[in-house]
Amino acid sequence: MSFDAGILALPFYEPRHVQRAQQIESWCAENAELWDDSSADPDAAGLRILRALGEHGWLAALDPAAGPEGSAAGDCRSLCLLREGLAYADDLADFAFSIQALAATPIVRHGNEEQQRRYLAPMAKGTLCGAFAISEPDVGSDVAAIGLRADKDADGYVLNGAKAWIANGGIADLFCVIARTGEGPGALGLTAFLVPADTPGLTVGQRVPLIAPRSFADLEFTDCRLPKDSVLGRPGAGFVIAMEVLERFRMTVGAAAIGFARRATDAALSHAKNRKMYGAKQFDLQLVKATFADIEVELNAAALLVARAAWAADRGDPAAAKHSSIAKLYATEHAQHIVDACVQVFGAAGLVADSVTERLYRQIRSLRIYEGSSEVQKMIIAGSLGGRGRAK
Ligand SMILES: Cc1cc2nc3c(=O)[nH]c(=O)nc-3n(C[C@H](O)[C@H](O)[C@H](O)COP(=O)(O)OP(=O)(O)OC[C@H]3O[C@@H](n4cnc5c(N)ncnc54)[C@H](O)[C@@H]3O)c2cc1C
Repeated sequence: MSFDAGILALPFYEPRHVQRAQQIESWCAENAELWDDSSADPDAAGLRILRALGEHGWLAALDPAAGPEGSAAGDCRSLCLLREGLAYADDLADFAFSIQALAATPIVRHGNEEQQRRYLAPMAKGTLCGAFAISEPDVGSDVAAIGLRADKDADGYVLNGAKAWIANGGIADLFCVIARTGEGPGALGLTAFLVPADTPGLTVGQRVPLIAPRSFADLEFTDCRLPKDSVLGRPGAGFVIAMEVLERFRMTVGAAAIGFARRATDAALSHAKNRKMYGAKQFDLQLVKATFADIEVELNAAALLVARAAWAADRGDPAAAKHSSIAKLYATEHAQHIVDACVQVFGAAGLVADSVTERLYRQIRSLRIYEGSSEVQKMIIAGSLGGRGRAK
């Protein structure tokens, strides 16, 4: 089961959330052929899954103009539940969904009427693939140090530099790019741009093979000219836009981690309840029971932290960013532990290439790094403690 019905029944969620969770679980079960053999060609599989997600309405929330479905664009609880359900089913399914949502969200929140009209409807249909480009070869955690230059000229801006580790980099039709325009020092001198993939001067650099295959590439900008109206939001607001998106999406990474961990747990439980050992079942051994008890505690804690963060964000709580970091940190670190414990339950069988546990063991690792590593989350959480504990 992708979801814990007891957690869904808590007052964090409304009946529509429970319904969405049930629907995504059934959809994944009925459409598993979409991600069969997805690791052989992640670019093609990513696009195939994206189109199917769009066709079946799972991306509708990315287009607020589309009516009641679209009006849920700001609903973090739905985003989290969809990621949890998709991640339970398949890594690439979650990846295709989450990167499209990550790329569309800044347009939903900061795009002008024309930008929203041009891009959001095809993004919600899955016919236009998006990507969000912050990281560079020399800049990762320290976003304020972004070096890609966007120099102003009479017609607009000229971009020169590079981006690195861009999810959907090789297949995206549209990039949301954060570049240095220099309105102020550091974080104050960054601007967000919308850059169609066919813009002259933008080329896809090297494709990067990862521990878990996904569409992933570096980008190069050489005298890449953009009109003034490609600015998203206002000049100088790029850092704020990037942080706002990351703050909203960190909790969703935690939700995906729960999906991966729950899938591993279900596989390991089924193995332990069937495997004969010492004249009984493996699950009857006390140390094995203790492993599953620890997992259950960790899964509950992670799901509650994600639910709290998403609920806080949906209410507009100013502390939501802190809770998003807490949820990501706890859920991803513990999901790593859970998947590892499940491999241990399987013994040698847990290490067989392309088995469920071996795949999850590779797939879970990047969640502790992207959208702010665990160390970055700790800095944010500690930073939120402010003046607490200071002597009066
Ligand atoms: C699967 C995946 C998808 C990605 N997708 C995208 C994408 O679509 N768009 C995009 O822009 N980027 C993307 N990235 C890049 C990702 O955002 C960066 O990898 C991440 O921000 C960390 O940056 P870095 O790898 O350069 O590590 P660095 O910033 O060099 O950090 C290296 C290590 O130092 C640690 N560290 C950093 N600060 C501190 C500190 N203050 N104290 C102690 N330790 C610290 C970090 O935690 C890390 O362990 C993706 C990465 C992965 C793995």
